[in-house]
Amino acid sequence: MAKYPQITVDTNKIRHNAGRVAGLCKEGGVAVAGVVKATCGLPEAARAMLAGGVAMLGDSRLENLERLAGFSVPRLLLRLPMPSQAAEVVQHAEISLNSETSTLKELGREARKRGKTHGVILMLELGDLREGLPLGEVSRAVLETLKIPGIRLLGVGTNLTCYGGVLPDPENLGALAETAVRIRKEFNIPLPWVSGGNSSTLPLLQAGLLPGGINHLRVGEAILLGRETAYGKPLQGSFQDAFTLQAEVIEAKDKPSLPWGTRGLDAFGQKPAFPDRGMRKKVILALGRQDAHPENLRPLDPRITILGASSDHLLLDVTEAKTPCGVGDRVAFRPNYGGLLQLMTSPYVHKEVL
Ligand SMILES: *Cc1c(COP(=O)(O)O)cnc(C)c1O
Repeated sequence: MAKYPQITVDTNKIRHNAGRVAGLCKEGGVAVAGVVKATCGLPEAARAMLAGGVAMLGDSRLENLERLAGFSVPRLLLRLPMPSQAAEVVQHAEISLNSETSTLKELGREARKRGKTHGVILMLELGDLREGLPLGEVSRAVLETLKIPGIRLLGVGTNLTCYGGVLPDPENLGALAETAVRIRKEFNIPLPWVSGGNSSTLPLLQAGLLPGGINHLRVGEAILLGRETAYGKPLQGSFQDAFTLQAEVIEAKDKPSLPWGTRGLDAFGQKPAFPDRGMRKKVILALGRQDAHPENLRPLDPRITILGASSDHLLLDVTEAKTPCGVGDRVAFRPNYGGLLQLMTSPYVHKEVL
């Protein structure tokens, strides 16, 4: 018996999308780390990405990378490591992104204890203001990193379009590529990887504007949801529907659009406003904010509108709906990236892998 709420994961579509992204990147001389964090490190999603041609697997959480033990490709930790987790980092990730020398010393110590070498990509700050070393501090950080036994410096990278909404462009990624060239010369090291960002770099690549020397991207959303993230456009030739949420109707009744009685605050301390649209056909689904925020869900039937949600109830107006919405029927939704992350993280949502 199927259990609801349920999210179905179509691994064929993920494989197809990974093939599309990896193919695009290959033309530009770029290898792809397939990022699975929005699926909570789902091994089937990782397997599908590998079948599509990604070169390594990335996630921001160690718990997720731990689920990916046994794959033949390197695992890349995307979030800067917590110093207190150094031992687990070298155990569950072959490579990590870093910007703090003191953390690298911890990683080196733990790697040596286990007779390992841990790979490192140094992150550079190019304007988005999340993680990364200022350009003026890179040489010094490289010098320090090269001195740490147990650590192998594999490259430099950057992250854009996250905090500041700064888009990748020939200028900032050009600075990254130039820095890599300069570091190779200055220290006479190979520095094989130059990691030029996430799904938001794909439009630049497609336009043929990716600066030479960028040879690595870390791509999640474009593979999982078939969407680049600079402008939010679908990636041509890819699927946007690899994930579908279904939730079950637990009440279906005609109700007025206006509440009555003395009005105070709703379940979340807000004072909601309601337009008067008369009597409407309304349903309650067994799904709530504990599973996914309603702003992150779009009903597949465009005639259905989401009215609101509490922790455990989702309210819909189905007056014009074409799909059946009786008690026990299931209503389908497409999640955005945030919704996907929440649904895959919620222990109350059943995961059905196709
Ligand atoms: C999440 C993440 C990515 C992947 O981002 P998408 O927009 O899903 O492609 C890449 N790099 C880092 C550092 C990340 O945290």
